[in-house]
Amino acid sequence: MTLDALLKQAAQRLQAAGSSSPRIDAEVLLCHVLGHDRTWLYTWGDKMCSLWEQARFDALIAARAQGTPIAYLTGEREFWGLRLATSPDTLIPRPDTETLVELALSRATLPSGRLLDLGTGTGAIALAFASEQRHWQILGVDLRFEAVALASHNARSLGIANARFLQSDWFGVLESFEEADKRFDIIVSNPPYIAADDPHLAEGDVRFEPRSALVADACGMADLLHLVNSAQHYLAASGWLLLEHGYKQAEMVREALNCAGYQNVESVRDLGGHERVTLG
Ligand code: GLN
Repeated sequence: MTLDALLKQAAQRLQAAGSSSPRIDAEVLLCHVLGHDRTWLYTWGDKMCSLWEQARFDALIAARAQGTPIAYLTGEREFWGLRLATSPDTLIPRPDTETLVELALSRATLPSGRLLDLGTGTGAIALAFASEQRHWQILGVDLRFEAVALASHNARSLGIANARFLQSDWFGVLESFEEADKRFDIIVSNPPYIAADDPHLAEGDVRFEPRSALVADACGMADLLHLVNSAQHYLAASGWLLLEHGYKQAEMVREALNCAGYQNVESVRDLGGHERVTLG
């Protein structure tokens, strides 16, 4: 079968399974099997593929038809122009989270400083920031050892030397740090913030992602509130806390920051126009 015919058949299968982007999904998965990019595929669509390639592709299409996220099938996702390894142990980096990176960079007014990323997952936020601010020291922490291993792997494969990753329950690991190392100029987090009964959890990629990275108690607010109240003990005098949250949570996060005594509190919208990040 030619590559074009294979793609057409796979896209039809994904469409029947309810995918919202069947053609692109099929192209991305075929590129993954062949080890080529999509431009190559557009040029060489009349080529035949081997039975072995076809079998591998069929297996991926079958998994995709069941809903498995593309990023778990290919084992990677691009974020901030960086190619990050992904795994089912971590949340898949989202374009919305680039808003948080942009804001953190805008608050990094000194040539060097220290940034802490809580619940780093693949290391996406920490590594994007580190790739832009090579003289900053970046620490990413995550409760899951698998995430710490993955983020460290991503740092190594991207050649980013100013970010390191440790296993920690939020600020826990900092207790063993020297007093001077406990303070950060910027603290960022994309914590779990979805309510356990949110119907969104039964749709699309989130069904396959770790619930510990998505769901928080108190209607999704528990971890956000914990971070607001704890972070002030770890911020430098004029440091910034930046939190990603659900688009209906901005007002509650602003209120929590104001109550805790943070200044210059404001929320910023993501690419979709939703209030997605709040800082103070
Ligand atoms: N923004 C993600 C979603 O709604 C959730 C990320 C998170 O809980 N931190 O799919």
